[in-house]
Amino acid sequence: MARDTGAQCKQCRREGQKLFLKGERCLTDKCGVERRSYPPGEHGRGRMRQSEYRVQLREKQKAKRYYGVLEKQFRIYYQKASQQPGITGENLLRMLECRFDNVLVRLGFAASRRQARQLILHGHWTVNGRRVNVPSYQLRENDVIAIHPRSSATQVIRDATELTGQVPAWLQADHDSLTAKVLRKPERREIAAPVQEQLIVELYSK
Ligand code: SF4
Repeated sequence: MARDTGAQCKQCRREGQKLFLKGERCLTDKCGVERRSYPPGEHGRGRMRQSEYRVQLREKQKAKRYYGVLEKQFRIYYQKASQQPGITGENLLRMLECRFDNVLVRLGFAASRRQARQLILHGHWTVNGRRVNVPSYQLRENDVIAIHPRSSATQVIRDATELTGQVPAWLQADHDSLTAKVLRKPERREIAAPVQEQLIVELYSK
């Protein structure tokens, strides 16, 4: 399975904002953006020429990095989103938001999407009673998520729950039994991604 193995703090610095890719470290003063708030690389502190294309491209890159999705997969999401009824940008974000790895982060069962992906790949989670080891698995309304009964990652997951703020209203989590339910698909206003999806649609529509 192809995955992004790039340095995560550099990705945040490139986008000029915290994307919270590293879990607990992101909440400390060791955060790369806090320490060096300029883009990485030799010309990081130089003046950057802005153009409409560049703004749109950066927004797409930011969304990809935030959700941990590679270019090819991201384009497939966009194609599917544009074929669905409704607003393409919102459809796109909704699909990204309903990925299994992202939902685990929103529920507080993983400190980062990278950790969520690893827990899923190693078979620590079930959906509706069946083990699911595909991080991109699309969760649907009424799906029940639970830790696998023989999982050895209980303590890691409990540690992650301590970093959690609020679980969004479209999800329901029980941090004691490590189970959860998807109540419905998220509304746009419930998706906390720092992304202006319209710019991505404009980029791909060229
Ligand atoms: Fe981004 Fe987290 Fe690194 Fe800060 S610590 S730059 S938020 S990945």
